[in-house]
Amino acid sequence: MDKIWKEMYEAAKAVLSPRRISDYVTAGEVAAAVLSKSGKIYTGVCIDTCSTLGICAERNAIFNMVTNGEQEIDRVLCIAPNEKKCGPCGACRELMVQLMPDTYKDIEIMLNYVTGETATLGELTPYWWIG
Ligand SMILES: [Zn+2]
Repeated sequence: MDKIWKEMYEAAKAVLSPRRISDYVTAGEVAAAVLSKSGKIYTGVCIDTCSTLGICAERNAIFNMVTNGEQEIDRVLCIAPNEKKCGPCGACRELMVQLMPDTYKDIEIMLNYVTGETATLGELTPYWWIG
C-alpha cells in the first residue's frame, strides 16, 4: 500500500469520533478521506439523524472538498466502526458520477484497508442510469 493511502487513513482516523450530539443526532461513527486531483486530503464524518437529514462520511468529505474550491476526486477511503470492509453507498457513488461524468470510472476506492483491497468506481459502477 502506498504512502498516500496511509495518509488518507490517518486523516480519516483523526476525525473518527463516534458521539451523540442530541437526542436526535449522532455523528462520527464512519469517517472518510477524499484525495483531490490537486493532492489535498479532505475529511468528513457521517451524521445520522432521526429523519433523513443526515449524510454519509464520504459525501461529507466530498462536500468539504467542493467547499474548498475543488471538484475532482482521485481517491476515496472510509473507515467503518469495526474497521472492516467499507465502500461508498449508492448515493455517494451517484454524487461522484455526477461530479465527474466523463472520468468517474478512474476514481480509486479503498474497500478494505486491512487487506489493501481497492477497486475503481468504474468497477463498482460500470453503468450509469443517465449516460
Ligand atoms: Zn454514502
